[in-house]
Amino acid sequence: MSKLRSVKGMNDLLPSEIGRWHRLERAFREAVERYGFAEVRTPIVEPTALFVRSIGEATDIVEKEMYTFEDKADKSLTLRPEGTASCVRAYLEHSIGNVEPVSKWYYLGPMYRRERPAKGRYRQFYQAGCEVYGDPGPYVDAELIDLVVSYLSALGITELEVQINSLGSGDTRERYRDSLLAYLRPLASKLSEDSQRRLERNPLRVLDSKAPEDQAIAAEAPSLLDHLSEDDRAHFADLCAALDAFGTPYRVEPKLVRGLDYYTRTLFEVKGLGADLGAQNTLCGGGRYDGMIRELGGADTPAIGFAMGLERLLLCLPDAEAEDTLDVFVIVQKPELRLEAAKIARTLRAEGLAVDADLRGTSMKSQLRRADRSRARFAAVIGEAELAAGKVQLKDLRAGTQEDVERSSLVARLAR
Ligand code: ATP
Ligand code: MG
Repeated sequence: MSKLRSVKGMNDLLPSEIGRWHRLERAFREAVERYGFAEVRTPIVEPTALFVRSIGEATDIVEKEMYTFEDKADKSLTLRPEGTASCVRAYLEHSIGNVEPVSKWYYLGPMYRRERPAKGRYRQFYQAGCEVYGDPGPYVDAELIDLVVSYLSALGITELEVQINSLGSGDTRERYRDSLLAYLRPLASKLSEDSQRRLERNPLRVLDSKAPEDQAIAAEAPSLLDHLSEDDRAHFADLCAALDAFGTPYRVEPKLVRGLDYYTRTLFEVKGLGADLGAQNTLCGGGRYDGMIRELGGADTPAIGFAMGLERLLLCLPDAEAEDTLDVFVIVQKPELRLEAAKIARTLRAEGLAVDADLRGTSMKSQLRRADRSRARFAAVIGEAELAAGKVQLKDLRAGTQEDVERSSLVARLAR
């Protein structure tokens, strides 16, 4: 039988590396909760139509990256490739817009895209994201960008570039589409196969293409910012003014468009400049999608959101000092004392301490080695003598000192 392995592009996160993940996730929850966001958890699997309708048919995700399958009732289901569509579905399904004027949601979890795996690009990857419903911006847009930057700085990820652009809304988009098409049509034969195929349906996609032949052509394309309506222009100017007022650095990138069709007006990406990420240097992508809620059957509701890829953040995360994971490791001099060890461990755990013990009855040396490896702060050693005297020998594994402590005052001593 061939060896069983995980699916290509889908990785195990082993206990030895989970500390770094917890750091990212804890800091994210703390950051977004400070900005008034509450968590939403939606299913991993959704009806395929949700993603086709929201992300757009002429996108990489929908054309080739979705994990789609038929369930028993011949219903087409898809593993979610991103979080926004599911959030909007839940927002509509539960009529949240009828209950509160503004909703601020965050999510954190795995997403699935069948793309070619590379460093920072996987088939199962984790995203942390936020969505705001009911606020047309631009100040909430600036606040979201500021949130991302302050979260990343709190993690020590400071080598960043924030890029912003405006895609405009309704009319602007149509006008821009026309002038982009007029520019691209004569060059069509020089575009990549994907772009040629999508040209008429979604010429904007060409600007976001990673194919070098497309990028050269995109570089000379007419600028979106020149096509903005007066309202769009004012919205964008106010966004820039708010970021200036916050002291959040950014660069206006008129060629910025993103891989999903649903965006309007504000668009942003945060690039990581520090680690060697290659083409996978987009840490965060976000933007406004004012048309989507109505398109999916709801009332006209403005919306904006972002998502960050946690694997890419990990590649940028500076090494932190390893934290102690256990308070105490209980060690016995003889196998007969194992039950005593388990009882002491149990008492200490009831007091809120993180405690482990080696209950196999192995040598002191091997138990001490395990205590060290488990990054315990203290080892509590019990032998016959200690047991009779109602004491334990407490070793401070960091300082290398030791002392005898009454069992009754052990918790108080450890609390110091
Ligand atoms: P890219 O241009 O790198 O393909 P994208 O535009 O497809 O990114 P989004 O759909 O905007 O990405 O997703 C938001 C974020 O999720 C990205 O900025 C990135 O950090 C992360 N991400 C997207 N796809 C993957 C993947 N396959 N593996 C790991 N992280 C990913
Ligand atoms: Mg992509």
